[in-house]
Amino acid sequence: MLGAGLLREGFDVTLYSDRTPDDYLQDRGRPTACLWGDSVVRERELGLNFWDDQAPGIGRIHLDLCLPDPMVAFTICAPLRKPALAVDQRLKFSRGMQELAERGADVVIDHISAPKLEKIAQQHDLVVVTTGQRSLTELFPRDDARSVYTEPRRSLFMMNIADYDLSARTEHEDLAFSFMPGVLEMFWVPFLDKDAGVTRSLVVEAMPGGPADRFGDVKTADEALDALRGLAKDLLPWESGFLAPARPTSPVTWLAGSLVPVVRQAVGVLPSGRPVLGLGDAIVLNDPLAGQGANNATRMATFFTHKIVGRGEDFSQDWLTEQFDEFWDYGRHVNDFSNVFLEPLQPFQQELLLAASRNDTIAGAVFEGFNDPASFTPWFTDRGQARDFLATHGVHKMDVLRYKLGVAKKVLSHKVFGRQV
Ligand SMILES: Cc1cc2nc3c(=O)[nH]c(=O)nc-3n(C[C@H](O)[C@H](O)[C@H](O)COP(=O)(O)OP(=O)(O)OC[C@H]3O[C@@H](n4cnc5c(N)ncnc54)[C@H](O)[C@@H]3O)c2cc1C
Repeated sequence: MLGAGLLREGFDVTLYSDRTPDDYLQDRGRPTACLWGDSVVRERELGLNFWDDQAPGIGRIHLDLCLPDPMVAFTICAPLRKPALAVDQRLKFSRGMQELAERGADVVIDHISAPKLEKIAQQHDLVVVTTGQRSLTELFPRDDARSVYTEPRRSLFMMNIADYDLSARTEHEDLAFSFMPGVLEMFWVPFLDKDAGVTRSLVVEAMPGGPADRFGDVKTADEALDALRGLAKDLLPWESGFLAPARPTSPVTWLAGSLVPVVRQAVGVLPSGRPVLGLGDAIVLNDPLAGQGANNATRMATFFTHKIVGRGEDFSQDWLTEQFDEFWDYGRHVNDFSNVFLEPLQPFQQELLLAASRNDTIAGAVFEGFNDPASFTPWFTDRGQARDFLATHGVHKMDVLRYKLGVAKKVLSHKVFGRQV
């Protein structure tokens, strides 16, 4: 997206990639990478929206707050202010490279090492490293002041499925979340899969060592789907019918692992003293719990396109560092939004979610957080602002008490009669 933005502004762009467009198509499954509204708009502005007719637009979110009994304690369901879209990154990366070449970029297929980067830096005014979380990150030291974690917070699993039974659970027409605090968060994302078309991409975020952490030894897609069905049977039984007829979209469209969220210093200095700018996961790696990685990469690409165009040339280390610091005024909200859900929610945050289950405007504001974390974190992370926020929406202490009693009644009925009311 940065390349497309700069080409449009008349810059010469060279794109280095360790894979050809065809390699990407043959690759194993890549992360879900659902783009929220503003990122979808940006992609469209850049003319990189090649799948609008095929991809299932996401207009609503359905979020179940679950208890381990298991049961759904309450549900938040609301439209998104702008539609989201999840398209297989194998399609995007493959087509995107070809598109940039057609628009005039030099596309070079090469695995770039640090010494090669030195040569590249000699030949260009600015080098931007967007190699993701696993490559060339040694150039960018950890920023201790901005990094929160030293260990993974979740065991991650992702799988794309087809042939599920939508009639067994029509909630899956929307993007669905299943949150079971202390156990798992799960996303069921309407998705355009390279091989199987309109499908669902499922992401499980399991508490390490807990009852949902059961994908570590999985070796094949079929084993993964069996483990997923077992998880649904034990923890989310109302999802079993949806999964019963499902099949993996291919033998390779699944991932399992973990990551340590980190923020790195965005400007690396090569042995020659030349600076290079890092963006995307190479610099800001968040747990995917809040679906921010690809969206944040898009925000960074958009922000730096404008900055680079304004500057034109002479990209010194100090200037690049200043620009990233300015980006961080916004970027810190993205990290706060990602991290707040990695920790146990405080009582006032639970009350906010409960209020969202009863109030469409609050529900809409919660879900807008995915698109614009800065609109969300102030009132969701500060007790005083949370109270004011609820009051502004006509929700007072007595209302919250009434909501809590409603949930307590539902839980009691489930425990005593084994059914939900
Ligand atoms: C399970 C899961 C689900 C996710 N879901 C979401 C979601 O719903 N929404 C969201 O916004 N984010 C999501 N993410 C995060 C998102 O996928 C990443 O944040 C995003 O892809 C990062 O983009 P990037 O361009 O920085 O890096 P990458 O997507 O990793 O791209 C890096 C590119 O650089 C190339 N490369 C690497 N090393 C070299 C080298 N040395 N030389 C040349 N080329 C190289 C790679 O081939 C690759 O094409 C998810 C992540 C996971 C793990």
